[in-house]
Amino acid sequence: MGGTFDPIHHGHLVAASEAAALLDLDEVVFVPTGQPYRKDDRKVSPAEHRYLMTVIATASNPRFTVSRVDIEREGPTYTYDTLLDLREQRPDDDLYFITGADALDQILSWKDADKMFELAHFVGVTRPGHTLSGDGLPEDRVTLLNVPAMAISSTDCRERTQQGQPVWYLVPDGVVQYIGKYNLYKEQ
Ligand code: ATP
Ligand code: MG
Repeated sequence: MGGTFDPIHHGHLVAASEAAALLDLDEVVFVPTGQPYRKDDRKVSPAEHRYLMTVIATASNPRFTVSRVDIEREGPTYTYDTLLDLREQRPDDDLYFITGADALDQILSWKDADKMFELAHFVGVTRPGHTLSGDGLPEDRVTLLNVPAMAISSTDCRERTQQGQPVWYLVPDGVVQYIGKYNLYKEQ
């Protein structure tokens, strides 16, 4: 599951857990983006902070891991490169790429979109406020899943923090404390 994870929240974690359970996946690898090329209109937190929050949020789940492939690759992050790196590290594994409905909707505009479907099966999950549709995507390479609705976004978590509102229970406790410790999201 790729994402900016700025910060990681319970919407990400529920989506990952449900996809793993419904598709009987052995492991979910969370891959924080390096330089998210679609988000250069706002300041994205340093990759190390996003990586560490993702580690904190996933540490207690034996099936959840975090990969540094995107943050260690120079230049903008493209999912096609992510999948190439993961395949190289795990040549015998079947890869599934988990995305929310909003991201799935954009996927055909991603770099090397057609080739991505050769490297992984795509899993689109429901997300409040977005319509889940696989229109235009190769049917045999995409699975759509209904997951419990978590109306949480990282944008909202950042805005709440900036305004002094709580993010308790929207993100894991350790992430609340990490945000406080490093004073993240105080300025936008
Ligand atoms: P931002 O508001 O900064 O864009 P975000 O909450 O959308 O943050 P991302 O890191 O952009 O989080 O998302 C990573 C992946 O997780 C995307 O595929 C996105 O669709 C999915 N996702 C994020 N939040 C949810 C949610 N609440 N329910 C289901 N999927 C989600
Ligand atoms: Mg997003």
